[in-house]
Amino acid sequence: MSQIASFAGSEAGLRFAIFAAALATLVAAEALWPARARHYPRAKRWPTNILLTIIDTAALRLFFPLLAVGSAVWAEEAGFGLLHRITIPRWAAFAASLVVLDVIVYGQHLAMHRIGPLWRLHRVHHTDRDVDVTTAVRFHPGEIALSMGLKMAVVALLGAPPASVVAFEAILNGVAMFNHANLRLPARFERVLRWLVVTPDMHRIHHSTLQAETDSNYGFNLSIWDRVFGTYRAAAGKPDFTLGLESFQSDAPNGWWLVLALPFRGEPVR
Ligand SMILES: [Zn+2]
Repeated sequence: MSQIASFAGSEAGLRFAIFAAALATLVAAEALWPARARHYPRAKRWPTNILLTIIDTAALRLFFPLLAVGSAVWAEEAGFGLLHRITIPRWAAFAASLVVLDVIVYGQHLAMHRIGPLWRLHRVHHTDRDVDVTTAVRFHPGEIALSMGLKMAVVALLGAPPASVVAFEAILNGVAMFNHANLRLPARFERVLRWLVVTPDMHRIHHSTLQAETDSNYGFNLSIWDRVFGTYRAAAGKPDFTLGLESFQSDAPNGWWLVLALPFRGEPVR
């Protein structure tokens, strides 16, 4: 158990270091090469988005102190889960875990959009009227708890090696911050990159107010899932499309109270 706790503790330090480095780099890049003009000055949106990530981190520490990596260490010690039952090279177990966790996160995101009560939680993320690096951490604590529960279960059933879970969480964190960034990449580089990874231009379409566009490009890391499952959209209908949700085109999404209470409010679900 103490080994699980120390693994989870060192993973927290690593994740924070990656978060801080990615934040500083992307904030600078957004200032140098912005993709779109901002609707609001940063100071109006950021306090709410940053407060949410503090609440989310505290909620995870409180309710899931061992996190997904704790689940992986437990499965390894107990010999539980598919990959601990079959003979497979370590590198293959590592790579397979990254790919399986990524498709699970894709599927979870799709479910968050398709199932009414889950959408109520997830729409907190979509009410941001600008999309930038801080949108990547704008999630309701309920959604964060649900996705951690799902990840812990998948990690245990799969028997994912602890190192692959640490790597996956770090990659997911870094790539989500990258693809929410208000960042214009050189066009040719962007076109090549999106064959492998979800780029800012690809993910921004998912934050369009048009429902058909919101309901596309669900991937967070690998762009292949949207292509395979038919949810890929190369471009938005209008180049200057509106960001956010149709029913929240006001200053309200900047308020932390609305953001926390949103799942319980009676506005139309879509
Ligand atoms: Zn979404």
